[in-house]
Amino acid sequence: MQQPPDAAARRAIPPVICYPTDTLPQPDMALYTAARATLQKTGETLVPARDARTFHVPAGHFFCITSVDGPQVGDLNLWNANDLSERFYSGKTRALHGTHITTGQRMWSSFPHLRPMATVTHDTLHWYGKDDFGGSVHDVIGTRCDPYTGNLLSGTQYHHCCHSNLIRALADETGLSPADAEPHVHDVLNVFMCTGFTRDTGQYFMKASPVRPGDYIEFLAEIELLGALSACPGGDCSAEHSSDTAACHPLLVEVFAPAPGALDGWHSPAPNGYDRSHGR
Ligand SMILES: [Zn+2]
Repeated sequence: MQQPPDAAARRAIPPVICYPTDTLPQPDMALYTAARATLQKTGETLVPARDARTFHVPAGHFFCITSVDGPQVGDLNLWNANDLSERFYSGKTRALHGTHITTGQRMWSSFPHLRPMATVTHDTLHWYGKDDFGGSVHDVIGTRCDPYTGNLLSGTQYHHCCHSNLIRALADETGLSPADAEPHVHDVLNVFMCTGFTRDTGQYFMKASPVRPGDYIEFLAEIELLGALSACPGGDCSAEHSSDTAACHPLLVEVFAPAPGALDGWHSPAPNGYDRSHGR
């Protein structure tokens, strides 16, 4: 295939950021940080290895996901606790914040709501930044390991991928059948997972997570949340997932209440202001 004579000039055009964030509503991190100093634990859920559990977080409370026994990646789904149709929107979060999120960035919800569901208030892996491979931690570029892709690529029938784990957890929480719960499971925040795209072929890669026991990522629930977290069968995702091969560990989810008045001035965000007439 011959290149056009101005190919180099076309490639040399500098990129433009799709969604400049200078008009994006910003969280009041000073207020959130002050509120963090007042937290009282109200509950916890231990997510077993290769399985998932749900948890509830009232609006204005905090939740924290901690590595406990060994390096372990988690796949996180979030829903509006009162409306499962409002759920985490990985693709728009990626468009707004980039491929990975950390302190001060947010998990945004699906249309027509498009509002912050949770804000990252602390991340002990913030130091990792971007490595020499272009890898970073807590990605919104992957989807979740699932039995369909495993079957497509390897002919397997494996039942403890994050997709299936999240389905069982949501079914147990809601009373829905697995078949009815499945459409509610969505693309995840890959907690602690270290990923990127290869520079030469643009392929999605993973590498051993830098997470160690005691590391955590903490969020403020901006709306009342139902969460589900799967402790991925990939373990630290250094080698493979979608099998029982990798060493796997549990993950701890804890919920905390700030002291009364500690979040004065904060309001749970309203749904998006677009009028939804769509030109008709
Ligand atoms: Zn997984």
